[in-house]
Amino acid sequence: MAAVPSGVEAYIGLGSNLDNPVDQVNQARAAIAALPGVAEIGFSPLYRSLPVGPQDQPDYINAVMRVVTELAPLALLRQLQQIENQHGRLRLVRWGARTLDLDVLLYGQQAINEPDLIVPHPELAKRAFVLYPLADVAGADLVVPGLGLLSQLLTACPADGLRKLNS
Ligand code: ATP
Ligand code: CA
Ligand code: CA
Repeated sequence: MAAVPSGVEAYIGLGSNLDNPVDQVNQARAAIAALPGVAEIGFSPLYRSLPVGPQDQPDYINAVMRVVTELAPLALLRQLQQIENQHGRLRLVRWGARTLDLDVLLYGQQAINEPDLIVPHPELAKRAFVLYPLADVAGADLVVPGLGLLSQLLTACPADGLRKLNS
């Protein structure tokens, strides 16, 4: 039997809209699962969404991964940023096209406010491409620190422009 992972449950948002986004997201999933001190315990279906910010860029592929981790929040973020860089992520335009974006959405029930890390992710409640896959892996009865029940956030955020991919 596999060892039961220990640590804190965290949720990671994955997004890509360049260089074969489905592959980018699947490869990132494998890279995250392979991090020391991180174990995957759930992965949402893939979704296609319209871009946030500049509209002259391709649609995004999004998903949410549920992990158990022994890494501290900032250490987890740094590992995710390394994976972004390995995928050729360039930071050119705010909210511009990217090969890979990995965000820490939730870290247990913690509220974190550090210069480099804000958790829950500040835009979470506004983004259907985060909330719907989050509900797939967490269940709509998840409590989001400071914001309440995920089911209520879903009700307030229409899924316009969001489509589940055929698997
Ligand atoms: P958004 O944050 O609106 O989704 P983005 O993902 O395009 O935009 P990035 O350029 O990837 O933004 O990240 C900008 C900075 O956000 C990073 O340098 C990081 O330190 C900071 N940051 C703050 N909170 C988080 C978080 N919860 N997850 C990931 N990065 C975060
Ligand atoms: Ca993001
Ligand atoms: Ca990001």
